[in-house]
Amino acid sequence: MQGRSSFLIVANRLPVDRDGHAGWRRSPGGLVTAIAPVMQRRDGAWLGWHGAPDESLDPFDHDGMHLIPVPLSAAEVELYYEGFSNATLWPLYHDVVATPVYSRVLWDAYRTVNERFARAAADAAADGAVVWIQDYQLQLVPAMLRKLRPDLRIGFFLHIPFPPSELFTQLPWRREILEGLLGADLVGFQRPGGASNFIRLCRRQLGLQHQKHEIYRDGRVIRAEAFPISVDFGELDSLVREPHIVARAKEIRAELGDPEHVLLGVDRLDYTKGIGQRLKAFGELLADGAVNAGDAVFVQIATPSRERVEEYRRLRNDIELQVGRINGEQGLIGHQPVQYLHQSYERNELAALYLAADVMVVTPVRDGMNLVAKEYIACRHDLRGALVLSEFAGAADELRQAFLVNPYDVDGLKRAMIAGMRSTPHELARRMRSLRRRVATYNVDRWAGEFLQALETP
Ligand code: UDP
Repeated sequence: MQGRSSFLIVANRLPVDRDGHAGWRRSPGGLVTAIAPVMQRRDGAWLGWHGAPDESLDPFDHDGMHLIPVPLSAAEVELYYEGFSNATLWPLYHDVVATPVYSRVLWDAYRTVNERFARAAADAAADGAVVWIQDYQLQLVPAMLRKLRPDLRIGFFLHIPFPPSELFTQLPWRREILEGLLGADLVGFQRPGGASNFIRLCRRQLGLQHQKHEIYRDGRVIRAEAFPISVDFGELDSLVREPHIVARAKEIRAELGDPEHVLLGVDRLDYTKGIGQRLKAFGELLADGAVNAGDAVFVQIATPSRERVEEYRRLRNDIELQVGRINGEQGLIGHQPVQYLHQSYERNELAALYLAADVMVVTPVRDGMNLVAKEYIACRHDLRGALVLSEFAGAADELRQAFLVNPYDVDGLKRAMIAGMRSTPHELARRMRSLRRRVATYNVDRWAGEFLQALETP
């Protein structure tokens, strides 16, 4: 086993999934996509759950990364992960678009598992190491770890939105969460609004003094600031120039029957993503006759997600009913206007899909950032394609040249889709050029670099 690490990522999941019995493969998802390159460059270690309940594993290396598995029991997966993380915090932090579950049993499991992560991190970190804790599943770890190892430099980044005081204060354990986060030297958020919500809560709930981005507590200074996450622009930009991706994009259009317009949605099947809203708008465009069923295809990739949480099972049924209705009412023999795929796709296939799509439709009702929107832009070096983007995604702060929409406004959504389909190539190129400039400059390296620089400069 290697010695203790001077750079440590602590996240709920390791960045790998089991690949049959043969071994491991890099897993999909925003966090992994963003951090893996940084990890490899800094030769650090990544600490997290390996995905199998009731199983302990020794540390191992994969894909140039040193991985330290943290075990979870089946009950903890249910109570800490599916429960407190995804049935309490996830809906609460996404503006209570689903009703959060407040349960002391779930909270106890959350605290126990956070304690285990903190102990594992304390064991794995070298003297004075930089430890970067990720996301809402581990908000108690910063303070727990500081207590065990005051010598460490501790950063925390929240990948999802941080809610306003009026919502956050519903949480019976609001003080504990705030105090947990305040164990970090730097708390990063996706948007400036998240950072100011946090600072305001520290004042109101804990009576702490603050100035600009700094909060003062027990003689320490805690910084709270926005660091919008991004994608590996260069990697995607070169990937889509490869002949096999270009060929695959053409093939996809042919498989769809070479329609005039290909619209695309790529999301985890989650109630925050506004999949129902966009399908409703598309269905109405067909029903109104504004778009001919034979001329357009909406490809909706809906990656399976959290299928053991009740709310997600209900959502799946609702979406599948809606797709069936649209195809049943608006389809033609041999042509279904909505191609719904409840599957997970690899990077290459996604890149080809992005390249094949005329209009990328990203309509979350609340989203920390939304990497899919940025990936689409990184893939469109041809300056074609339109991005329809919800104002309620963190990405909307930066991507002002997208066709910005309020996903609850069905007519506005329809207008934006039409604009995406009918704008002149010149207009689309003008918008895309500006969007690409932004994503190329503020890429994932810059995100991680700026966060770590802020963390490592006291
Ligand atoms: N993704 C993937 N395969 C899929 C669907 C999505 O690899 O079938 C990736 C996608 O490329 C993106 C990430 O998953 O990098 C989703 O990140 P985003 O911020 O859009 O949403 P999240 O799922 O983190 O809420």
